[in-house]
Amino acid sequence: MDINFTAEEAAFRDEVRAFLKDKLPADISRKVKEHKRLGKEDTVRWQKILNEQGWLALHWPKEYGGTGWSPIQKHIFEEECAEAGAPTVLPFGVNMVAPVVIKFGTQEQKDYYLPRILKSEDWWCQGYSEPGAGSDLASLKTRAVREGDHYVVNGQKTWTTLGQHADMIFCLVRTDPEAKKQEGISFLLIDMNTPGITVRPLITLDGEHEVNEVFFDDVKVPVENLVGEENKGWTCAKYLLTFERTGIAGVGQSKAALAHLKQVAAQQISNGRPLIEDPHFRRRLADVEMELMSLEMTNLRTVAAAEAGGVPGAESSFLKIMGTELRQEITHLFRTAAGPYALPFLNEALHDDFDGNYVGPEFAASVSARYFNFRKLSIFGGSNEIQKNIISKMILGL
Ligand SMILES: Cc1cc2nc3c(=O)[nH]c(=O)nc-3n(C[C@H](O)[C@H](O)[C@H](O)COP(=O)(O)OP(=O)(O)OC[C@H]3O[C@@H](n4cnc5c(N)ncnc54)[C@H](O)[C@@H]3O)c2cc1C
Repeated sequence: MDINFTAEEAAFRDEVRAFLKDKLPADISRKVKEHKRLGKEDTVRWQKILNEQGWLALHWPKEYGGTGWSPIQKHIFEEECAEAGAPTVLPFGVNMVAPVVIKFGTQEQKDYYLPRILKSEDWWCQGYSEPGAGSDLASLKTRAVREGDHYVVNGQKTWTTLGQHADMIFCLVRTDPEAKKQEGISFLLIDMNTPGITVRPLITLDGEHEVNEVFFDDVKVPVENLVGEENKGWTCAKYLLTFERTGIAGVGQSKAALAHLKQVAAQQISNGRPLIEDPHFRRRLADVEMELMSLEMTNLRTVAAAEAGGVPGAESSFLKIMGTELRQEITHLFRTAAGPYALPFLNEALHDDFDGNYVGPEFAASVSARYFNFRKLSIFGGSNEIQKNIISKMILGL
């Protein structure tokens, strides 16, 4: 494998860098770099800028308004965005439901939803998990019963990320309770303003309102909101998950975080010298850096395989496990660097306009919140234990 970029790829990287320098709003990238709280309006503002450039829909074919980029171009773009401090694009519309609509949707669904997703007119959320159906997703119980020209939906979804802002939710619902688990499921698009929907917050360990429970009580959904065939929703669900796991290694984010950590460790004094000179801390930092380099190489191998026409297989599970463990370990090192200042938690300090007093150095204000928040990384997108099951079955043949 040649790990150097070709002249065209290097030119593309320069074009992306120039765009980010010119168009990424400084206030937004400062919030990302300083780990301040981002609002819905920050995400939407950035998505609109990307869309104006034609760079929002990385995974869509060109004919629908996508970039049509190669796997290497997407990789370069994602790395540069992470380094520049661009916010993450809300994945549920553009990266999840849209590819499903493109592959399985009717012409009317494509004509209606895709332009709205590109223009960020609808905020989407994902209604897959339920209290009794997470890793074992096919056990889901939310019921949809056909009555004339609509379905009546009853049940509950949970962990619905940013559902408090959502205009639309894509849901897996059970339409045939008699069929085998995977065979009685359908994929529905539901307007969050429909009567009978209740959204309740779940507050996470860091005190944030990021996830929700969504209840459906006799919710009427027009049949034209069914994607694909009735009872064939599992095919859509699996197809969508292949997009959920793209970019899962988070190499760019880890590189940016590690660079910040080194800066911080050079400033923090421990036993009369900069923390970065402490042999124990240096060893842990070096371990993380080496792991990150090997993750990057593995990631590049999958990008190169995809460029050559391959489809990512069980190796995505390696990327998920290594990538998330590294990101969690970096948050752990940040807490170590903050020392006792990691303890006091000032929720208000995560607001961009906070002008109160910090307890200790400014960077320390967000480290515990991030440490706790990042426990989620090894749970969502298929928990790390489930990824290990995939590796043992698909790669080790156990
Ligand atoms: C912050 C956050 C945001 C999320 N956002 C969304 C969202 O927007 N939409 C959505 O639909 N879902 C979302 N999820 C849900 C997520 O996909 C599930 O939490 C995940 O699939 C795990 O399911 P569970 O929580 O029901 O845990 P369970 O499946 O009950 O698992 C509990 C534990 O048992 C382990 N386990 C389970 N089965 C096995 C097995 N066969 N072998 C070995 N170990 C096993 C798991 O790894 C885990 O440690 C989110 C979750 C979190 C934490």
